[in-house]
Amino acid sequence: MASSPTRELDAVVLGAGFAGLHTNYALRDQMGLDVQVYEAGDGVGGTWYWNRYPGARCDSESYMYCFSFNKELMQQWEWSGKYPEQPEILRYLNHVADRFDLRRNIQFNTRVTAAHWNDETARWEIETDQGDRVSAKYLITGIGCLSSANVPNITGRDTFAGQSYHTGAWPHEGVDFSGKRVGVIGTGSSGVQSIPVIAQTAGHLTVFQRTPQYTIPARHGNVDKAFLDEVKKNYDEIYEKARQSTGGLPYDAAERSALEVTDEERTAVYEDAWNQGGFKFLFGSFSDISLDRRANDTASEFIRAKIREIVKDPDVAEKLVPVDHPFSSKRPLIDTNYFDTYNRDNVTLVDIRHNPIAEINPTGIKLEDGAQHDLDIIVFATGFDAMTGTFNKIDIQGKGGEKLRDKWAAGPLTYLGVSVAGYPNLFMITGPGSPSVLSNMPVSIEQHVEWITGAIKHMEANGLDVMEADAQAEVEWVDHVNELASQTMFMLADSWYLGANIPGKPRVFMPYPGGVGAYREKCDEVTAAGYEGFHLSTSQEPATATAD
Ligand code: NAP
Repeated sequence: MASSPTRELDAVVLGAGFAGLHTNYALRDQMGLDVQVYEAGDGVGGTWYWNRYPGARCDSESYMYCFSFNKELMQQWEWSGKYPEQPEILRYLNHVADRFDLRRNIQFNTRVTAAHWNDETARWEIETDQGDRVSAKYLITGIGCLSSANVPNITGRDTFAGQSYHTGAWPHEGVDFSGKRVGVIGTGSSGVQSIPVIAQTAGHLTVFQRTPQYTIPARHGNVDKAFLDEVKKNYDEIYEKARQSTGGLPYDAAERSALEVTDEERTAVYEDAWNQGGFKFLFGSFSDISLDRRANDTASEFIRAKIREIVKDPDVAEKLVPVDHPFSSKRPLIDTNYFDTYNRDNVTLVDIRHNPIAEINPTGIKLEDGAQHDLDIIVFATGFDAMTGTFNKIDIQGKGGEKLRDKWAAGPLTYLGVSVAGYPNLFMITGPGSPSVLSNMPVSIEQHVEWITGAIKHMEANGLDVMEADAQAEVEWVDHVNELASQTMFMLADSWYLGANIPGKPRVFMPYPGGVGAYREKCDEVTAAGYEGFHLSTSQEPATATAD
């Protein structure tokens, strides 16, 4: 690094979304550490600061998409919708920042560009794009799993004379689609949420679809006040159920196999789940949809029939029916009027799987067969370089100057998804190898913040300077994650979970698929065994291996 650090801190935290805000509160206010948070945006919110596209909202029900670390906050905050919409989540996170005075040690408009471990001082040296140079004992990342936008490098992309936007970097002032010819590329969560809303005002909307999707109706609406009151009376119990669940939501897990009931019973269960909407279709219908291909086929076929029922033009319906991957092998989608939108006169579906985009030119998008779609606005709903993309943009160097992006060149290697061998005192909130994106994020974020805070308390109480994952423990964890993933539907699709959306990215399943309950138990066992799989030491003494 260019020069010596000018400030010595206990901890540096990257990001001021759910993860960074909670970490700031835990380390600064609950532990009394000297903490500096750096945030690239000019406000708090993380994902919810950047993703302001029309229709953006969370697929977790609102009463579960919040912090649980403060009971008064849980009781006092009133959600207005069944699912929280982006503006409301952003208001919530701003409220949390104000309520706990979290802004005073957050530096906004600042990206951390480099973090190097200094073997001699046993501290992290950190540099930002604003010229800051600080050192810290602990480095904690809350940089999000989906925070590096993927704007595909389509030939001629930058020659387009109209306006173009990525859903994950949406202009704060909004975009006026009235009367405009709009093209949306991408039909993942962001596309499926924004397409029906854009269609309402656009002159004409053309959707460029590479992979058709299974999506379940959200059944969004105002939240029932009586229901919320009941939730608040039982919040502790409800939250605990979510903590022990698979997906971080307090739904009753289905116990029956889809294969042990009659066809009529099965259809009735799916019909009921479809009418309830949301993730209950996946978690609450049958126990083996994600695990058994034959069981999965019944769910996939049910959804295909629904698409054919909703979409009036049979040719359009067939283009929308997913056949190349099983339901839930990609991130399950939740929508409002998505398939219905293709019944509108001002909406055209273009299948770019069979007739790919050849180029973007000044007036629009040209396909390989020569068809030209003239456009005023292009929306890239093309996703993110997930889980590792944002890490790789930072020059993170561990012991001996090893670069994290080199260590992860063939896929991310972590112990518990929270730490990396060779990178002492680095803690990643919802890092690769943890449940993260396969769960209701706040539940996973809180579990990580609590676990990391516990580890730091342990170090401070015992005069320890260094905590580092053991290399063998890391290998075993990565093997375990891969072994679990191999038993699921996840391996049967080209998804961002596997890095398949980014050309050249290694095909490795990144999140932990064993569920948040099992994962929490494992982390608690590690703690109870004296941080098994970690080396803990003072900087003066050799490290003590606590790994097996
Ligand atoms: P995504 O799921 O990765 O979807 C990207 C879409 O763009 C896919 O349809 C993909 O097609 C297409 N695409 C990518 N590159 C392309 C290219 N070069 N040419 C043509 N099409 C291309 O991204 P996302 O919709 O932004 O969602 C990402 C994740 O963010 C979600 O899975 C979810 O975890 C989270 N999210 C959640 C919510 C919510 O809670 N409601 C909302 C938004 C996002 P292929 O399928 O063929 O790759």
